[in-house]
Amino acid sequence: MTTIASQLQQVNARIAAACAQAGRSADSVALLAVSKTFGADAVLQAAQAGQRAFGENYIQEAADKMAQLRALAPALAAQLQWHCIGPIQSNKTRLVAAHFDWVHTMDRLKTAQRLSDQRPDGLAPLQLCIQVNVDGGATKSGVAPGDALALVQAIAGLPRLQLRGVMSIPDPVEGFDAQVALHRRVRAVFDAVAASGLPGLQRWDTVSLGMTADLEAAVAAGSTLVRVGSGIFGARSYPAA
Ligand SMILES: *Cc1c(COP(=O)(O)O)cnc(C)c1O
Repeated sequence: MTTIASQLQQVNARIAAACAQAGRSADSVALLAVSKTFGADAVLQAAQAGQRAFGENYIQEAADKMAQLRALAPALAAQLQWHCIGPIQSNKTRLVAAHFDWVHTMDRLKTAQRLSDQRPDGLAPLQLCIQVNVDGGATKSGVAPGDALALVQAIAGLPRLQLRGVMSIPDPVEGFDAQVALHRRVRAVFDAVAASGLPGLQRWDTVSLGMTADLEAAVAAGSTLVRVGSGIFGARSYPAA
C-alpha cells in the first residue's frame, strides 16, 4: 500500500472513531481530500485507494491538475469531484464555474452572480457553501454569522447554483471542549438557515468543518464534511494562502 493510501485509511478510521464517539452514524461525515500543492500523481494515488472528492485552493493549479489527471487516467478522472476551498477573485470566476463541482468559500453576492452567469449549461448546478467567519476580525474571509441568512436569501434566486450549507475555518484554539464550542457556532448558523423556511434550500445538508488537526471536534459539533490535507498527503512544502 502506498503512504497516501495508508494515511487515507488512517484518516477514515479517525472519522469513524469520532462518529462513534459522538453517537453519529459513520456515513454522516464525508471526507474531502485537500490536495493543494500536491501533484496529479498524489491525487491519483488517493483516487486509486477509493477517494473521490478533492479540495483545491488555487484555481489555476487545480485546473492544470484536472487536465493532467484526464490525460493520466481518463476513466478515474471522470469520477472525481472537485471542491474549490480557496478565495475567489473576480478574474477567476469563469475558471471556477467551468471546472469545479462545489465552491465552499461563498461570501459575497457579486461572486455568486458571476458564477451563476458563467456556469456552463452542460454542467450540473454549482454546489455552494456559505463561508462563515465565526471568530475572526474584519480581515478574515466569510460572512458574520448574523449575515449568513441574508446572503442565502439573495443567492437562492440565482439559476445554475445550488445552496448546500456552510463552511468555516475557525482559528485554532487550545483544548477539545473549546474547539467543539467554537465549531458549534458554525453548526448553529447552518441550523438557523435550515429552520428559516426560505425557498431554495431543498438540498441544504452540508456543514464543511474540520481539518487534520481538529476533525474530531468538528465531528462532535456536527460537521458533515471534513477537509483534510496534511493528514493524507503529508506536510506541504509551501503554505496555504
Ligand atoms: C489547506 C486547507 C485545509 C486542509 O488543511 P490540513 O491542516 O492540511 O488538513 C482545509 N481547509 C482549507 C480551507 C484549507 O485551505
